[in-house]
This record gives sequence, C-alpha cells and structure tokens, in this order.
Amino acid sequence: MFDVLIIGGGVSGISCALVLGSARNKPFASDKKIGIITHQKASSLQDAIFYNAYGIPSGKLGSELLEESKEHLAKDYPHVEQISDEKVLKIEGNFNEFIITTNKNSCKSRIVVIAIGAGNPFTIEGLDEYVIPHQKIAPEKNRIQLKNIDHKVTDGIYVTGTLAGWRSQLSIASGSGAAVATDILTLWNNGNHTQVHDSIRK
Ligand SMILES: Cc1cc2nc3c(=O)[nH]c(=O)nc-3n(C[C@H](O)[C@H](O)[C@H](O)COP(=O)(O)OP(=O)(O)OC[C@H]3O[C@@H](n4cnc5c(N)ncnc54)[C@H](O)[C@@H]3O)c2cc1C
Repeated sequence: MFDVLIIGGGVSGISCALVLGSARNKPFASDKKIGIITHQKASSLQDAIFYNAYGIPSGKLGSELLEESKEHLAKDYPHVEQISDEKVLKIEGNFNEFIITTNKNSCKSRIVVIAIGAGNPFTIEGLDEYVIPHQKIAPEKNRIQLKNIDHKVTDGIYVTGTLAGWRSQLSIASGSGAAVATDILTLWNNGNHTQVHDSIRK
C-alpha cells in the first residue's frame, strides 16, 4: 500500500515526487510510502528542446531531462520507489484505498496523483466522469483535462501539469506538480501549511 502514487514520470510527475521526497525528515512524512510510475514513452519531453524554462540550461533536450530527472530523484530521494515501464490502465476505489492496475501489475494507494499530460483520448479507465475539453489550449488541438479545483479532482485524487488545465510550458507543469506535493504534505501535517526548504545556513 502506497501513501501516495504518482502516475506519469514527465515534468509535473517528477516535480511532485521531488518535493514529496524532500520532506523525508519531517515527522509527518517520514513513514510515508511514496511511489511514481515513470512511464515516459508518451511524454511531451521526448521531442522538446528548451531555451525558455527557468533553471534549465539553454538548449537542453527534453529526452535528456527524462533520464536525468529520474537519476536526480533516485540519487537524492532513493526512498521514493520508481516503477518503470508500466502503463496505468485503470483506477478503482476511493480515498485511502485506490487500486491501480497497470499493463503488468496492480497495487494500492491511499492517494493518487495523475500526471499523464493532456493527450486525447484519456487512456485510464475509471476517471471518465472528470474528463472535459481543455479550457486553456486552442480547441483545434483537441486536448483534454480533468475537472478539478486547485488540482484536487475528488478526495484522494489530484491532477497535475497540462492535464490539470494549465497551458503547456515546462515551468507551469513543474510548478503544478510541486504545488500538489505541498498540498499533500499539508494534508499529512493535519492541515498546517507546509513547504520544504533546504538552506546553506544551518
Ligand atoms: C515538441 C514540444 C516542444 C516543447 N517545447 C517547450 C518549450 O520550448 N518550452 C516550454 O516551456 N515547454 C515546451 N513544451 C511543453 C512541455 O514539455 C510540457 O508543458 C510539459 O512536458 C508538460 O508536463 P506534464 O507533466 O503535464 O506532461 P508530460 O511531461 O508529457 O508527462 C506525462 C507523463 O505521463 C506518462 N503517461 C502517459 N500516459 C500514462 C499512463 N497511462 N500510465 C503511466 N504513465 C503515463 C507519459 O509517458 C509522460 O512521462 C514542449 C512540448 C512539446 C511536445
């Protein structure tokens, strides 16, 4: 049983995992089991090259980011379990007991974060009632999003990145994943607002 399982290892999914992982020394997060399904074949990053994303060196290839971001997560936060090369097919259940079925396996999680991008059709069974046309991408591009209020779809289900209804820019997707991570940390911290900062000053 995961406490939180992130589905999708692109920009918003890995960003969410990094911030959740970075809270490992907080008492309310230290016992939490965090996982991410790092399927990457359908990522927008595959063909992208970046000149306009804050903190990313100019000319960086998205295909490099896909690999380097997984290495970063594994090196700094090895307690975050990475499940590679599995595609999620179905989500069933409710808050505190979702069943996630992939093309190879199934597992349970208390909270699920959907970070799979805005591609149409939506490929995960069980969430159809939340799928609507994307509200901030031109209609002719035929993108979708999940209905949400400030990233929350329903109790225990969060959505990040372009699938949350944000326009497609790396920095927006990254911020969206980080925002959801802090919402989950705040939930674990009994509603007390939480962020995770490292500092060179002790
Ligand atoms: C060609 C191109 C060029 C771009 N150039 C720029 C640019 O110059 N500047 C900029 O700011 N932005 C650019 N972008 C946009 C940027 O890459 C996206 O906004 C960003 O990647 C969106 O992040 P995301 O997390 O929503 O989705 P993604 O990064 O696409 O991540 C979604 C992840 O979910 C996975 N996934 C999908 N379905 C499943 C499933 N069923 N089960 C498990 N995993 C699944 C995918 O494999 C992928 O890893 C570009 C995009 C493209 C396509």
